[in-house]
Amino acid sequence: MERTLLVLKPDATMRRGVGAAILERILDALPDARPLGFVERGVPKSLAEQHYFIHKGKFFYSWLIQFIRVGKVVATVLEGDDVVKRLRAVLGATFVDKANPESLRGKYGLVGGVNVAHASDEPGNAEKEITLWTRRTSLDIGSKGRNSILAYIEKWQGTPIRATQQIRSLCREYTQSYSSRAHYQERITNLLIGECPSWTRRKIQKLADAVLGNMDLDKD
Ligand code: ADP
Ligand code: MG
Repeated sequence: MERTLLVLKPDATMRRGVGAAILERILDALPDARPLGFVERGVPKSLAEQHYFIHKGKFFYSWLIQFIRVGKVVATVLEGDDVVKRLRAVLGATFVDKANPESLRGKYGLVGGVNVAHASDEPGNAEKEITLWTRRTSLDIGSKGRNSILAYIEKWQGTPIRATQQIRSLCREYTQSYSSRAHYQERITNLLIGECPSWTRRKIQKLADAVLGNMDLDKD
């Protein structure tokens, strides 16, 4: 029996319908997996850095630490046979543009590494991540998580998801010149507003900034 850590990133939690759809698909795809604990909260810088310590020094590291802190995340643990690999398969490849369009990242990810969720990559790392998150947050793996997940799905599943493709094409347009950043940030913010009820415009602007920031990483 294995365990894995699932964290919905701010592009999924702020786009409430996306968060709900992802959780619903995971319960559906892994019906035998047991959710343990559930928490929705912001990520302090120190937790973000510990969670992503293996990426320290890489060119995308500062972006990643900023991105995971744009809004609250949802964290839960899944327990089941071969659950690490099976959850990664449902999630899809790291980059939204390369992920199978039917996978969660391919379907709901915004662009590049703005890819809706983290899932542990192998059982040993999963246990380390679970230890970290249970120490640093109120994630309680002694408690059952399924009811909290179902309540989250029920609360947010009606929220529209309609801007994904438009945001992807604005990002492609942006990378053709990397100019007019403020203009693109504004347009992406406006598109996200319909998907992000209960978040302030300022927060949504930060999400749009992180989206463009991921594009900026590819600039020569
Ligand atoms: P995964 O999340 O699939 O395990 P990694 O552990 O390699 O992927 O990277 C952690 C996160 O960092 C990714 O999910 C993505 O958000 C971001 N990331 C990784 N590589 C890049 C990159 N080359 N450019 C932009 N973002 C990246
Ligand atoms: Mg990883």
